[in-house]
Amino acid sequence: MVRAFCFSRNQESNGDELSPGTIFMNNHTTIRNKLNNNELDVSRLRNIGIAAHIDAGKTTLTERILFHAGAIHQVGEVHDGTTTSDFNPIEQSKGITIFAAAVSCVWTPGQSTSPYAGQQHRLNIIDTPGHVDFTAEVERSLRVLDGAVTVFSGVEGVQPQSETVWRQADKYRVPRVAFINKMDRTGADFGRVVAELNRKLGANAWPVLWPLGSEGGLRGQLDLINERALIATEGRSGAYAIEAVPTDWLNLVRTQRAELVARLAEVDDEIAGLWLDNKPIASRQLQAAIRRATIANRFVPVVGGSAYKFIGVKPLLDAVVDYLPSPLDVPAVTAQAPDGQSVVNVSADTSAPLAALAFKIVTEPTTGRLVMVRLYAGTIRQGDRVLNPRTRQIGRVGRLVRVHADRREEIESAVAGEIVAVMGLRGFATGDTLCSAERPLLMEPPSFPEPVVSLAIEPERGTESQRLASQLQLLSEDDPTFRVSTHPETGQTLIAGMGELHLEVVRERLRTEFGLATNVGAPEIAYRETITQPAEADYLLKKQNGGSGMYARVILSVQPAERGSGVRIENRVSGGNIPAQFHSAVRKGLAEAARHGALGYPLVDAQVTLLDGAAHVKDSNEMAFRIAAAEALRMALRQASPVLLEPVMKVDLATPLEHQGDLLGDLTSRRAKITHVENRVLSAEISAEVPLRELWGYANAIRSLSRGRAAYSMTPAHFQPVPALVASELLETAT
Ligand code: GDP
Repeated sequence: MVRAFCFSRNQESNGDELSPGTIFMNNHTTIRNKLNNNELDVSRLRNIGIAAHIDAGKTTLTERILFHAGAIHQVGEVHDGTTTSDFNPIEQSKGITIFAAAVSCVWTPGQSTSPYAGQQHRLNIIDTPGHVDFTAEVERSLRVLDGAVTVFSGVEGVQPQSETVWRQADKYRVPRVAFINKMDRTGADFGRVVAELNRKLGANAWPVLWPLGSEGGLRGQLDLINERALIATEGRSGAYAIEAVPTDWLNLVRTQRAELVARLAEVDDEIAGLWLDNKPIASRQLQAAIRRATIANRFVPVVGGSAYKFIGVKPLLDAVVDYLPSPLDVPAVTAQAPDGQSVVNVSADTSAPLAALAFKIVTEPTTGRLVMVRLYAGTIRQGDRVLNPRTRQIGRVGRLVRVHADRREEIESAVAGEIVAVMGLRGFATGDTLCSAERPLLMEPPSFPEPVVSLAIEPERGTESQRLASQLQLLSEDDPTFRVSTHPETGQTLIAGMGELHLEVVRERLRTEFGLATNVGAPEIAYRETITQPAEADYLLKKQNGGSGMYARVILSVQPAERGSGVRIENRVSGGNIPAQFHSAVRKGLAEAARHGALGYPLVDAQVTLLDGAAHVKDSNEMAFRIAAAEALRMALRQASPVLLEPVMKVDLATPLEHQGDLLGDLTSRRAKITHVENRVLSAEISAEVPLRELWGYANAIRSLSRGRAAYSMTPAHFQPVPALVASELLETAT
C-alpha cells in the first residue's frame, strides 16, 4: 500500500503559532513573536555553522534553508549574485563568500517521526567562509557555534579544503551533520563520498537519508531510519510525499539500516545491548541514539540531496533539529579570571552573571557598528552596562538586535545560548569578553594566525589621510587577522593580512562602503625574527647636563621560546629597584624594541626577563626608563644570534594524473616540502608546505602547467627560519 501525504510545514503547525514569515521586518520595526526574548526555550535553539569547500554549494544551501524557513521570500542563484548570505556587494562581484553572515530563522520539524515534530525551533546560522584566505573567520565561527552542517559535493567528494574545515571542527569538537550535495549532477556517487568521509576524515559517518536515484534520475530520499521514501515534489517548495520504499530499493534500505545500527552499536551502549540480543530497534530508539552519539562527537549522520533542485533540504533541517545540540547540550566552556590564575566553568544558566564573547564586528553604512556576541551565561538587556575585562572599561548596551541576512529585528533582551548583535557598544573588539562587573572573566579569545602579507596604502586624494587612518583602525578592530601599522623608516601606512585577496577585499570595502579610493604598493611578505640562544644585557642611561638629568638602569635576559608563543615578558626585579611607577614605561620600551627586533623585523617567540635595575631619586623619569629598557633589549637581541623567519603556507592541490609530474617538479623548485601525495583513479592530490616568498605567481603557473584543470588552496601554516643565503640577500636589500 502506498501511504502518501504531501508535506507542508505551515499546514502541520498548530494554529496559534506565527508563521515564520511574520517575524521578519524591514527597517528595524519590532514585532514580537513567541520565540522572542526571555520566553525563548533554549532547548529549542540551534546555533549552527555551514562549512564547506568552496563551490560545494554552501551558498545555495543556505539560501534554500532561509527560503524554506520563511526568512526570505525569494530564492536567488549564485551565478546572478542574488543570494542572501552573499549580501555584501564585494562578494557578489567576486562570486565568493567572505564575511560570515549571521542569519536567524525559525524551523518546525514536520516529519511525523521527528521527536520534535510540530515544535518551533530557532536556528542561528553562521555562513562560514569558504575561501582559504579567510580560514580565521571559519575558526572564529566554529568556536561560537554548537553544531555544523558540513557540505560536500557528491561529485568531487572530500576535497583538500573540506579536510581543513573538518579538522578545524574536530579541534573545537563541533558535532556535525554531513550533507552530500549535488546528487543531481553527472558523476555524483553518494556511496563513494560516504566512504571518503570515513577513510579520509576518520569520521564514523553513516547515512540516515540516502538519495533516491542520482544524476538526472534523482527523485528524493530514502529514510533509512523509518524505512520509507520521501518523493520530492517538482518545483521550489521543497515538499515531498511519503511513500513506501520502491521494491528495487528495498534491499539497499535494509542493508544500509542494518549497517547504521551496527555503526551506532559501536558507540552507544543502549543500541549495543539491543543489537547483541538481536532485538528489533525502533525508529525512536535509533533517533535518540543518533542524537546522543552525534552530540558526543562519536557519529556523523549523513544526508544526501541537491540544494539546487530543492531536494532533501527540508529533511536536512529536521536532521539539524533532531541531531545537533542545543546550547544546553554542550559542555560548559571554560573562562579565565582576569588575573590569569583561576579557571571558571561557564554553563548556559540564564540567571548567572553575564558571560559573552564578541566574535565578530560588522560596520554597516546604515546601521553602524554591530558587535555580534554569543552569550554563554546570563541575560543581556538593552541599556545594560557591561564590563570589558581587557580594557577594564564599562560599555553600555544600546540596542539589541537579531540579525537576519539583510534585516534587523530589535529585541529587548537575550539569554545564554543566543547569538545576537549589540548596537552602540563602544570599546569592544573582536575576541573581547562582555561580562558583569560582579564576575569579571575572560572567555578564551580565539587563536588567529599571524598575517603573512603586507602592503603600503595611501588615499588617492591626499586630503583623506586622516579618514583612511580611522577607517583602517575600525576595520582592524573588526577583523583580528587584519593589522595596520606605520613603516618605521618611510612613515607609510602598512596593512597586513592573510593573503593578497584579503587585502584586496579591504580595499574594495574602503571604496564601496566608505567612498575611499586608495593606491597600494607591491605586496610584501611579513617576515618575523627570533633568537636562537640566550643572552643578557645591562644598560645604564646616565646624562647630566645642567638642570634635571636622565638616569635609568635596566638589566634583562632573553631566551628563545617555542614557536607560536610570541613575546613573553616576566618581571623578576625585586625590592623596588625599578620603582612601580616606571613599570609601564619599561613595558613600552620593551614593546618598542620588540617591534623592530635586531634585524628590523617584529620579534616573536622569545622570553624577556627583567632581572634588575636602578633608579635615581631626582633624575629618573618615564622617558629614561623607556629608553633604557628598549636599549637593553636591543643589546641582548644582537647577542642572541637572531634569525629571520618566513611564513610557510600549506598548499593543497588536486590535479588530473597527467599533470602530477609537472606540478611536483614546479613545487620542488619553490623550496616546497611535499607532505602528502595520493593517487586516485584519474586524479592526484598533493599537499606541500611552501615558503610564501616562493609562491608569487603560483596561480598562473598552476594554470598553465595543468591547462587550468588543477585546483589548489593555500592557508598559513607556520613560520620557519629563512635559509642563510636567502636571508643575507633579504637583509642586504632592506638596508
Ligand atoms: P559555495 O562556494 O560552497 O557557496 O557554493 P555555491 O552555492 O556558490 O555553488 C557553487 C556552484 O554549484 C553554483 O554554480 C551553484 O549553482 C552550483 N550548485 C550548488 N548546489 C548544487 C546542486 O545541488 N546541484 C547542482 N547541479 N549544482 C549546484
